[in-house]
Amino acid sequence: MKVFKFGGASVKDAGGVRNVAEVLKHYALDDLVVVVSAMGKTTNALEEVVWAYMDGRDTSVMVTDLEQRHTEILAEVAPGDGVARTALVDRFHTLRNALASPVGRDVDHYYDHIVAYGEIWSTVIVSAHLNNVGITNTWLDARTIITTDDRHRSANVKWEMLAHNCSEHLPAFEQGPVRIVTQGFIGCTEDGDTTTLGREGSDFSAAIFAYALDAESVTIWKDVPGMFNADPHRFPDTRLLEHLSYKEAIELSYFGASVIHPRTLQPLQRKGIPLYVRSFLDLDAPGSTISEATDHDTLIPSYIVKPDQLLVSITPRDLSFIVEENLGDIFKRFARRNVRIDLMQNSAVAFTVAIDDTPRARQLIEELREEYEVLYNEGCELLTVRHFDEPTLGVLTAGKQVLVEQRSRVTARYVLKAM
Ligand code: ASP
Ligand code: MG
Repeated sequence: MKVFKFGGASVKDAGGVRNVAEVLKHYALDDLVVVVSAMGKTTNALEEVVWAYMDGRDTSVMVTDLEQRHTEILAEVAPGDGVARTALVDRFHTLRNALASPVGRDVDHYYDHIVAYGEIWSTVIVSAHLNNVGITNTWLDARTIITTDDRHRSANVKWEMLAHNCSEHLPAFEQGPVRIVTQGFIGCTEDGDTTTLGREGSDFSAAIFAYALDAESVTIWKDVPGMFNADPHRFPDTRLLEHLSYKEAIELSYFGASVIHPRTLQPLQRKGIPLYVRSFLDLDAPGSTISEATDHDTLIPSYIVKPDQLLVSITPRDLSFIVEENLGDIFKRFARRNVRIDLMQNSAVAFTVAIDDTPRARQLIEELREEYEVLYNEGCELLTVRHFDEPTLGVLTAGKQVLVEQRSRVTARYVLKAM
């Protein structure tokens, strides 16, 4: 069993959906689980629906627009598939019904319910197209397999339930090749409440399926030919990392290399399942292979820039020292607001963090101000360089103000600001 994942960019239109079929034709004899994200920018559009619903604004134009786009694509890639068309129309109908009922719970609950439709629609379309071109497959609701806790918008997987769920809900595998089309990003609580795994979480879903099914590999099909030592859109002379260890890839994705979602690698590492990152535009290109082996780890400098950072300093009002007790309180507040700390540093009386500049982060700062003196710098960028050397650091920090510098043996990190 191989697990394939196709992201939103790869299925953004009818051409993208057809291309999924082209890729699968090369794997005609394999058992496949195909994990698909919402089409193009659908998740962003659905987020707007959530905010409008919560504000009591009219959502019908937005939903009609999404319905038109999806039904048009379905009509192009699977003309005459009345069953799929009905399935799609029904899903829009249930969304409209949900949006017509009064708001009675918190935003994160509705967020997951509404945003999950993106993946449902896209998989109905992809599955219909594959059937239409002779790649017979079964559409699977990922929520029957991926059980999570109720931490909406970044739910935690209940790993111990996966095996049981698979035996209950997966079709029998006696006759191959088996092909399953399912959603990334979404899960479900034991009470039947839809959850999501965090933005860009479909890679993680692919890893969860691979873990549950002891798959031989996971392939993430992308519009770039693999993982690079830096973002090729941002820097000249980048190099493809052909082989990476899980550890190295975890570090890179954790620090913000956006090619794979940071949570993807742990479940694969636990079972030793290799991950391939390959281009759906160039099936002959080798791509990147991520596995246990560390001997190929390319030790050239890899660098990642996270823009739009806030550098926040938090000081107890009475200038008492930063001790475990304050830190415990501060961390709790970050966790409660779901604000991730990208870098931290402390002095005697101040605790300093770099965080993404989001509305949630701004709210947290206001909350912290009730107890602490809080100062911040906005418009910063966080630069992480793995396997750094001095010339590279010189080039990357040139002409910028260094607000924080941290170095360990293999990683140098900076909070920088334009001068
Ligand atoms: N559709 C979701 C998102 O855009 C999940 C994903 O694409 O991986 O965040
Ligand atoms: Mg996406």
